[in-house]
Amino acid sequence: MDQHGPAGPSQIDADIALTALTFLGLGLAALHHLLQPLPIGLYGAALALAYLAGGLPPLRGALVALWRDHILDIDLLMVVAALAAAAVGAPVEGAVLLALFSLSGTLEHRAMGRARRAVEALMQLRPETALLKRAEGVVEVAVASLVPGDLVVLRPGARVPVDGRVVEGEGRMDESTVTGEAAPVHKAPGAAVHEACVNLDGVLTVEVTRALADSTVARMIRLVTEAQAAKAPSERFSDWFGQRYTVAVLLGAIAAFFLFWALGRAPSEALYRAATLLVAASPCAVVISVPAAILSALAASARGGVLFKGGAALERLAEVKSFAFDKTGTLTTGRAEVTAVLALAGDEAQVLELLAGIEAQSEHPIAAALRRAVAARGLVPVAVQGVQAHPSEGITGTDATGPLWAGNARMAARMGAGPDPRLAALEASEETLVLLGRGPQLLGAVTVADAPRETSAAALVALRRGGVTRVMMMTGDRRPVALRIGAALGLTPDEIEAGLLPGDKVRLVEALAAEGPVAFVGDGVNDAAALARADVGIAMGAAGSEVALQAADVALMAEDMGQLADAQRLARRAARVIRQNLTFAIGAMVVLVIGGAFFNLPLPLAVVGHEGGTLLVVLNGLRLLGDPIRRS
Ligand code: ADP
Ligand code: MG
Repeated sequence: MDQHGPAGPSQIDADIALTALTFLGLGLAALHHLLQPLPIGLYGAALALAYLAGGLPPLRGALVALWRDHILDIDLLMVVAALAAAAVGAPVEGAVLLALFSLSGTLEHRAMGRARRAVEALMQLRPETALLKRAEGVVEVAVASLVPGDLVVLRPGARVPVDGRVVEGEGRMDESTVTGEAAPVHKAPGAAVHEACVNLDGVLTVEVTRALADSTVARMIRLVTEAQAAKAPSERFSDWFGQRYTVAVLLGAIAAFFLFWALGRAPSEALYRAATLLVAASPCAVVISVPAAILSALAASARGGVLFKGGAALERLAEVKSFAFDKTGTLTTGRAEVTAVLALAGDEAQVLELLAGIEAQSEHPIAAALRRAVAARGLVPVAVQGVQAHPSEGITGTDATGPLWAGNARMAARMGAGPDPRLAALEASEETLVLLGRGPQLLGAVTVADAPRETSAAALVALRRGGVTRVMMMTGDRRPVALRIGAALGLTPDEIEAGLLPGDKVRLVEALAAEGPVAFVGDGVNDAAALARADVGIAMGAAGSEVALQAADVALMAEDMGQLADAQRLARRAARVIRQNLTFAIGAMVVLVIGGAFFNLPLPLAVVGHEGGTLLVVLNGLRLLGDPIRRS
């Protein structure tokens, strides 16, 4: 069975048509034998139809594999077995073999096609043109020509052409295409909007934040494409096994033919027995066991908005016993509010304008909070150049006066700005503290408060109930803030690590990994290394940073923590189904081979046993398609 190419809708249609034709031919030929002899011409035509429709596609696949990749695959075995059956006067059995083989191939392609089609449907939702706002008016331009900073106008009912940020207007947005979340989301200035979502009622002006090629939808498409390239370990095993085994079975059948002959059977009977053995020993069911389960599980999770980059991540997630979480933007919403402003030089407005200026392009949730605060107060961000982010510390840049920085105490210490008694009140709060300074001079400080996601606390409970033994929160933020959020989530102080640099997160993940497989869930630039180091890296989908998504193995498009436990349950179920399938397939094969070698197993029984087993295994895998990842 070829698992090489992607299965598009047209291929699936062709699969279904060929399978139907094969069954039609088989049905007519069976009619001839069972009920009513047909004219010999019609009987022959029916058999020819079954053999051509059912045999040519696998024969072509087998020849391509032989020619291009120099491998003998199972398709070849099936065609040879069917021809051998015909040669020994059992053409209908051969047709049954081809028909069932064709059916299991079609089912397999369907499972594969599901996940892909979900994303291809998204691609079709991408608008081609956008309304670009220029000084002289609004013009229609190609979406591909938009660059970050352009302003586009969204009319009610229009699909969003690119990822961007609302700068003017308010209204509701249907984001179900990207997040899977059905309820409309209210958008006001400062809110992010994603390509392919539908603007329901407001007239919005949106600033483009990402070029088309980097948009959320483009990222999802890349994720799913990568998913098909990254095979699970057990999948690779069955590929490897399939090739070696095919050769062995072919040689074994030839050897059996001569052996039966030498033991005194007639040549035609020896051929019949060899053909039976060939069918009995063909490992179709073994080889399809794993992909049938994995692809179904990947498709089911993709439908719920949880994208796995491949079967390998799925198999590892089933094993995970420890979960480590980033705080800001992961366990918390990342939609923080500025709660207090302290000016140590100039006034509060100046402090905010400098902060919003230096954070103008930052992807950090703190930056968004500062920009919103400035917009809400009708202030104007100061122009800042040469901005550089320092993950888990802050950000630096230069305005008209000179170098400028914003960040936490670590950043302040780096700049030579020592502890300052005037900060005592802000430091006493359990909120995130952002300091602003010029070299060693402190200009001001703000506190930013962020709340846990509504789904976080329940998700941690669900994970623990599902057998996760260790849960940790790892943050670059101050410990008092971490303790407040942790307490709200039911975490104990020893499950919380604060004040971390990106490298600290990696070390902590490594320490956890020493005890068993570990998953890390994060969103930020500062989480990328930990995401890559964890056995399973899980990134926040739409709002997560690009690097985090790239480093991760799984993307939570709906950013619903509640889905983690569901995803793990699905991964465990998939692992169980794989074990069931392999046990059953190998067991059935052994029984059939023993029957064929020693007990004169009739060919029709071998065919039914073999193909029936293959079908059962595929259907068992497809059960996972019905296992939903719910949204909380
Ligand atoms: P978390 O690990 O919880 O996601 P981060 O590591 O992203 O948090 O941030 C840790 C701390 O570093 C923040 O609490 C903040 O004080 C500081 N920081 C990081 N990036 C910025 C930024 N762009 N502007 C201001 N402060 C920042
Ligand atoms: Mg974060």
